[in-house]
This record gives sequence, C-alpha cells and structure tokens, in this order.
Amino acid sequence: MMSATILYIEDNEQNLYLITFLLENKGFRVCAARDGREGIESAARLLPDLILLDIQLPLMDCYEVARRLRDNPRLNRIPIVAVTSYAMAGDREKAIASGCDGYIEKPINPETFVQEVQRYLPYGKGGEEAP
Ligand code: MN
Repeated sequence: MMSATILYIEDNEQNLYLITFLLENKGFRVCAARDGREGIESAARLLPDLILLDIQLPLMDCYEVARRLRDNPRLNRIPIVAVTSYAMAGDREKAIASGCDGYIEKPINPETFVQEVQRYLPYGKGGEEAP
C-alpha cells in the first residue's frame, strides 16, 4: 500500500495534535495548515491524497475553502472530508453542498477515526502499516 499524504486544515492545536498522532501512527504522512488560505496554498504545493477540513476556521470559513478547492482544476478531485461538530447538524449539509465528500463528527472516536478517513481514499492508498 502506498503511503498517503493528508493535508489537515485546523486551527485548534489539540485537535491537530491528536489527529496527526492517530494518522502518523498508522503510517500516513500528515501536513498541517492553520487557516484556509494557508490550506489552499499547501494543497496546491503538496497535491495531497486527501484533505481534512475543520469546520470552524479563522479568516476564511471552511465552506469557502471547499468551494475554492473545487474550483481549482488541479485540486478538484482531491477528496475533502470535513471535521464537524456533532452538535451542529446544519454544518454537515453545508459542508457537502460546498463540495466536501463527507464529514467526520467531533469529538472524534480515536478507535475508528483512521478507518473513517481511509474510506475516502482511492483504492491502494493508505497508511504504510494498513492491511
Ligand atoms: Mn477550528
């Protein structure tokens, strides 16, 4: 299995730490961006296999980030998975409408998180240690 690169756009240090830990532990490469603008620049530079997108970001909201990624012909086929808050049901529909492929609810379940991410990756792409 080829090791996948995941770009995680997240401003919260605790979420960044936990999710990076979980993914790296399974052999994924993780790159972080702290806001939408940095995220779009990083996506263009890295061409990651998947983008994890926090729903609440400073400067540019995540729906705008998703729309801009979808409007970019070089980036518009990269799966985008929103990381949404369980309490905010409307966020999930807005995330899909703005171009995200799916969402994972916060608080995340550390036992199943990596498997949930894996579902959105192309066949044969995953962590180095994945079966
Ligand atoms: Mn946030």
